[in-house]
Amino acid sequence: MAHSIRSHNPAQELCGVSLNAPMAHIKVLMCYAIPGRVVGLEDRIAFVDYFGETKKARNDFFQLSIGEYVYAQGGFVIQRISESEAKAVLNTWEELFFKLKEIDSDLAQNPKDLRQKANLIRQKHQGNSCCVHGIIEFSNHCRCDCLYCGIRSSNTAIERYRMTVEEIIDAAYFAISELKFKALVLQSGEDTWYDEDKLLAIVQGILRKSPALLILSIGEREAGLYEKLYQAGARGALLRFETSNPDIYSKLRPAHNLDERINLIKKLRDIEYLIMTGFLIGLPGQTQDDILSDIQMTNSLGTDMFSFGPLIPHPQTPLSGVPCPSIDDTLDTIARARIMNPDARILVTTSMETIDKENALRSGLLSGGNSLMVDVTPAKYKKLYDIYPNRPGMDAEVSETIASVLKLLNSIGRAPVDLGL
Ligand code: SF4
Repeated sequence: MAHSIRSHNPAQELCGVSLNAPMAHIKVLMCYAIPGRVVGLEDRIAFVDYFGETKKARNDFFQLSIGEYVYAQGGFVIQRISESEAKAVLNTWEELFFKLKEIDSDLAQNPKDLRQKANLIRQKHQGNSCCVHGIIEFSNHCRCDCLYCGIRSSNTAIERYRMTVEEIIDAAYFAISELKFKALVLQSGEDTWYDEDKLLAIVQGILRKSPALLILSIGEREAGLYEKLYQAGARGALLRFETSNPDIYSKLRPAHNLDERINLIKKLRDIEYLIMTGFLIGLPGQTQDDILSDIQMTNSLGTDMFSFGPLIPHPQTPLSGVPCPSIDDTLDTIARARIMNPDARILVTTSMETIDKENALRSGLLSGGNSLMVDVTPAKYKKLYDIYPNRPGMDAEVSETIASVLKLLNSIGRAPVDLGL
């Protein structure tokens, strides 16, 4: 196993994070999902109640009955649990759940600027739900040569790695069973060493051991392969289109075509994957109008989760001299995306922390964002996934990163209730 499993449970340890005022009296018990009770069923849709709030989730995997308890992630029911197990978790959550709502609501009042208005819209439309996904970066080999990317094929200065199928399954098992993640992104460069057999073995191997929402971020692979991986149980696909401007796209992604990328995203949508897509901010030649078109294109693709972030120029790429976008520009883009799409799930990317280490995640969540990712790649590989420089958290223990994320979410009143469909 790639990680060392400790004798205690880090998630339980983290539940002991103490809060500053106004909630210092409440002991935090916070993981990345709250179970809900099924209160309605309609075809493939389960209506799931969380302390009086009902959210919809697609039920592809279980024969459910009303009254049963489930975990849902990304709008999918991913696990059925016993009533006693659910009540044990819910009892610890009940007081905190309503306190968090109050904090979130207080922070959203009296908006004065664009970002605060976006935060109020997020609070009104999406409540205080916030999803936290883990990400395993399992290979930094890539056949593509995108000008903005540190692991592009022509960068011969980086050390390449591939995790074996068994290492990936073990890392996922650790993230799900020990770190308590319920949704995992499996990310790599566009690496065809992972053929159909290997990718199917990874998805099936993970799901055989533990339930989770698996999100694939493996690049432009054949739609037929994605179809098979969906049938094997994967339910999310993360594939950014990078820019809606075809001229910029063709300059930055040699031998690639924006229409083909968009068509693949549409096919993934047709397969019924949960779609995560978006763009880069700060590309050479990109205008404010381009960014507005990027937001519109993200929306028009029927995106389930917006994923966009700043270009952090890598020193071993042709874009090394391009300036980083400012944190203000990035936060304003989150705010505009929220205002244009009140019901969106919007990921606050860790790349923002490279621009503003101390405040980026908090500011992003208070500008309309409602989702975060935590890197759970085994430590020996983590630094090698060098897509951009100065990635945050590379020297931190994953337990430290999780503790700081949970503390942040508690401080701004966010709860890990599924955002629903
Ligand atoms: S952006 Fe993605 S497809 Fe392009 S070089 Fe990097 S990993 Fe490969």
